[in-house]
Amino acid sequence: MKSGVDPKPRMANWANWAGNQQVDGVSLFMPRSEEELQQVMQFAETNNTRVKVVGSGHSFTAIALAESVLIDLTNYDSVIALEKIANTVTVQSGIQLSKLNLFLHSNGKAMQNLGDIAYQTIAGAISTSTHGTGVNFTGIANQVVALRLVLADSSVVECSAISNSELFECARVGLGALGIISTVTLQVVPAFNLAVIEQPMRVDELLEDLDNHIAMNDHFEFFWVPHTGWALTKRNNRTHEPANPMGKLSHWYSKTFMENYAFGAVCMLGRARPSLIPKLAKALPASGRTEYSDASFKVFTSKRVVKFYEMEYAIPREACVEALNRVRRLVLDSGFFLNFPVEVRFTAPDEIPLSTASNRESAYIAVHIYKGMDFVPYFRAVEAVMNSYQGRPHWGKLHFQNAESLAPRYPKWQQFQVVRDRFDPKRVFTNSYLETVLGK
Ligand SMILES: Cc1cc2nc3c(=O)[nH]c(=O)nc-3n(C[C@H](O)[C@H](O)[C@H](O)COP(=O)(O)OP(=O)(O)OC[C@H]3O[C@@H](n4cnc5c(N)ncnc54)[C@H](O)[C@@H]3O)c2cc1C
Repeated sequence: MKSGVDPKPRMANWANWAGNQQVDGVSLFMPRSEEELQQVMQFAETNNTRVKVVGSGHSFTAIALAESVLIDLTNYDSVIALEKIANTVTVQSGIQLSKLNLFLHSNGKAMQNLGDIAYQTIAGAISTSTHGTGVNFTGIANQVVALRLVLADSSVVECSAISNSELFECARVGLGALGIISTVTLQVVPAFNLAVIEQPMRVDELLEDLDNHIAMNDHFEFFWVPHTGWALTKRNNRTHEPANPMGKLSHWYSKTFMENYAFGAVCMLGRARPSLIPKLAKALPASGRTEYSDASFKVFTSKRVVKFYEMEYAIPREACVEALNRVRRLVLDSGFFLNFPVEVRFTAPDEIPLSTASNRESAYIAVHIYKGMDFVPYFRAVEAVMNSYQGRPHWGKLHFQNAESLAPRYPKWQQFQVVRDRFDPKRVFTNSYLETVLGK
């Protein structure tokens, strides 16, 4: 095989998963090695262009939008090493979580916590502060113990808590602004099963007892269904019992048919006739209680076929009930017709400068709109509520903030800016989204 990147790259078009971010005619590179990543940076230096790495394009914001050079890491996705005793795994940064999960599982290991899906690359997931739920667990970036980065000058640097620690602190949630993450070393744990209880509850009762639900379960989350007084709760607890998964048919019916195809049809109908949405919503919580158990990664992550736009805010955990009640009130008062549930999750604090849970235990409130419908009025109204709690938007999900509004919400904001000035003084890795949220 010919080695080295093509000095005359192919021009390509790119769009994200939701289809709301698109670019035409950028120079596409698909490197296979760290050396080739360095060669792309040399190309960029010679041609004086900006560079953007994309993961799986699962961000809704323009964070991954390339302006001239686009690096696609589809061919840079191998596992490099698994240290069974130390419980660490080192991977090339383009590996998708789905592939990593299978590799870990077949070796008796697992990631400590995951978000709702596993389509993301590891580098994309950590770069935007991707998280799951569980008040004693942090987001994925806090599971990282070492990184290798290719910098703007094409040199390679290794960083961890003991070497180049300032870069390490920031690059775990680096928004793609500091360099190309080449490899990621993660702390993993022995494989474990989760016992699941999925159950509808009256949302008022749930909120009255919210602290208990959060404390009594390893991974608690709920979905409030707009236009109803119901929430669908999901309680996942670690268990030493053998897996007792749903039957294949029940799994297909519940997770593929109901959560994707039937839900998709309901969304389509709602988009065509918004006034039907409140009636359609009332059918959702009637699903009853479901119990099963399975390997952690199969429980944490699901298939997502229905496309949507999303905004998600991290707020101090203690503000959750008040903030959610304000969102419920605004839905009642506004006349919005909403066919997607509002998802609520919780995480422990971490110390990563631009993590959405930086230095604070967090509740996450996420709102969604079916693809092709106008999200702006709803998202703006919800954002106004989140602003009053110093809300921090998910870096990969839609919002209307800028560097000025965000800076006071992160205690270590300035630390990130110092590192950015040091490692990317010429702003090779910036794009228009980063100019808005981080400044020029
Ligand atoms: C259906 C769906 C479900 C989701 N569920 C969750 C959830 O449960 N929890 C949650 O927190 N989020 C969730 N998200 C958001 C998603 O996890 C993030 O947007 C994540 O960043 C997407 O990863 P990606 O690989 O697609 O990265 P992309 O969106 O392609 O890129 C994200 C950022 O990472 C940078 N990047 C990628 N690779 C590198 C690299 N090698 N070096 C440097 N920078 C790099 C990009 O430049 C960009 O800045 C969901 C999104 C969708 C569409």
